[in-house]
Amino acid sequence: MNVFHKTSSGDTFLPRTQSFLNIGLDDTDTPGGGCTTHLGALLATYLMKNEKCRLLDYPNLVRLNPGIPWKTRGNASVVLRIDRSCNLSVEELVELISSFIDSYQGNCKHRNSSPGIVIYNGYPWINDLRGFYFRALNDVVLLDDARKIMDKHGIVYNNGRGVIGALAGIAGLAPGDPYTFELLAYRDPKYWGEKRYIDYQSVFKYDMLTGELTFSSIDPERRKQIITPHGPDPVYFGVRGIEPGKLLLALETIKGNEPIHGWCIYRTNQATSIHEKTTTTPRYHRTSKYKCTVSGNPQKIPGGHIILEAECHNTIVNLAFYRETYPLNKIATMLQPGDQITVTGPVKQRSTSVYPTITVEVLYVEELATKPVEVAPRCPKCGARMKSKGIDKGYACPKCGYYDRTATKIHVVIPRDIVPGRYTPTPMHIAHLVSPNWLHPLMLKKFPLFPVNGFCGHSINSPVNNPPVSNGSH
Ligand SMILES: [Zn+2]
Repeated sequence: MNVFHKTSSGDTFLPRTQSFLNIGLDDTDTPGGGCTTHLGALLATYLMKNEKCRLLDYPNLVRLNPGIPWKTRGNASVVLRIDRSCNLSVEELVELISSFIDSYQGNCKHRNSSPGIVIYNGYPWINDLRGFYFRALNDVVLLDDARKIMDKHGIVYNNGRGVIGALAGIAGLAPGDPYTFELLAYRDPKYWGEKRYIDYQSVFKYDMLTGELTFSSIDPERRKQIITPHGPDPVYFGVRGIEPGKLLLALETIKGNEPIHGWCIYRTNQATSIHEKTTTTPRYHRTSKYKCTVSGNPQKIPGGHIILEAECHNTIVNLAFYRETYPLNKIATMLQPGDQITVTGPVKQRSTSVYPTITVEVLYVEELATKPVEVAPRCPKCGARMKSKGIDKGYACPKCGYYDRTATKIHVVIPRDIVPGRYTPTPMHIAHLVSPNWLHPLMLKKFPLFPVNGFCGHSINSPVNNPPVSNGSH
């Protein structure tokens, strides 16, 4: 097992003066996103072993706007940051990576994939690139926008549509940004497409052992492990956390019925809510944070989903709380007109509504309406609820007979069943970028970075030397 050595430098691990290569990859995918991270791990291993490149950071897994309809599933790009001591020129690297991807995709093909390779020699967290990253997190960015920026800064890229995500990824995870880690364990190619088996008890044990340093390994309510994907991709399981050492423990603790073929720890913007940036006017495909006032009553639609009308920056929107986002859908049924809320999620078009629909990923109940309701007064003698004797005829007590001709209805504020606060779905259905409530925000920056020393397992072999065998399910 590898040991991580702590540095005192913390987040200043890549100083502005240091020249390094940033390699961004995207859209090399199969559904499930497994291939992009698998390819990234294989490529990192290959570059270190065969080209004597040194990685300056964990491989980065950068998630982007989930609201883009033409995204690869999961919408993630992979970034490798290496020092200049490797002997390859940027152009040679692009060529090498291209053939690496070709060779890989020969075994792992996805019909719409258009791999993007972007290589930037320099400090990537400059204004132009950061701006592009944040737009890619929230909004729609176009290939032309990406090309303009890349040409301006002398960034080398290939022809794939994936250069959008690859470029955005390069400017992600800047020093000072929040981050988490994910260890991905990969399957032997002979198991790809087969049903995964993982012993729930071992995941439960792992969750107990690692406490709050890992998150979202189990769904405690359903007593299910949630570390395995369901697609035909090469990922066996993925565990998330804020300390790499605790992730490595998964390799010993978690039991399944197949050997782990290889593994890699990614540093990632997952679970950081970094996309929840601004409150803006709702626009299609934009994922953002919106302040709204509830303007209608919750409507239940088939499937147990809740639709709620709200006003957001003078725009009427429908808020969709899908059943999978429990407990959000339950809380939505308790909201009423006048409630002030903030929601996060992508804006979509629904055929059944003329208004934009925000698919709610996070719900902040800010302020509950305190609209008083009218009720009959209580009897001053015995305390029973009095009964009206008719219009303008006052109220009489049904218990003791007390009668007051002048009594009128009184206004009372009925206590609400919900309390203000931030609400997220259960671990199984929380969106990739959303920071779960059970992960304390301060924890996101608690651990400094370590020099990269053992971020992936030896059993990952390069497909160039040792091509993975497809079982035909891709
Ligand atoms: Zn009475």
